[in-house]
Amino acid sequence: MKRMKIGVVEDNEDNRLLLHAFLDELYKVVDFEDGPAALDGLPAASPDLILLDISLPGMDGVEVLEQIRLDGRLRHLPVIALTAHAMSGDRERLLAAGFDEYISKPIVDEGVLLEAIARLLDRKRGTPPVAVPARTCVEPAKKAEAGCRVAVAS
Ligand code: MN
Repeated sequence: MKRMKIGVVEDNEDNRLLLHAFLDELYKVVDFEDGPAALDGLPAASPDLILLDISLPGMDGVEVLEQIRLDGRLRHLPVIALTAHAMSGDRERLLAAGFDEYISKPIVDEGVLLEAIARLLDRKRGTPPVAVPARTCVEPAKKAEAGCRVAVAS
């Protein structure tokens, strides 16, 4: 079976090496060092799932996710948040922002990461991507919903 591909957006080289150590045997892994590089390269890389660091220089992971969800080529992809800020409420905040899962760093149990990836890839395999009609949502609370285009204030 063709190996599935994971896009990793992570600015810290040690963390990228660690992710490669966990993932290389099972998946193809393509790295991006920051948000703009990822948004530029992800459509062509065409991964099956994205691991997205929250703390990135310039554009943080939540902003990168917003752009991913606005891009018809990427919006259907499962995205897992990686964050070192393991504070209470983080999980809820990130899931509400539209992430599919949340993993806190340092990753002490690679099984948790591998299980989350496998579960989201299974879900993706079971449900072929359908065209999500773009909707315009004015309320900020709806901004995070997948497929929701944010109305541009004039
Ligand atoms: Mn970082």
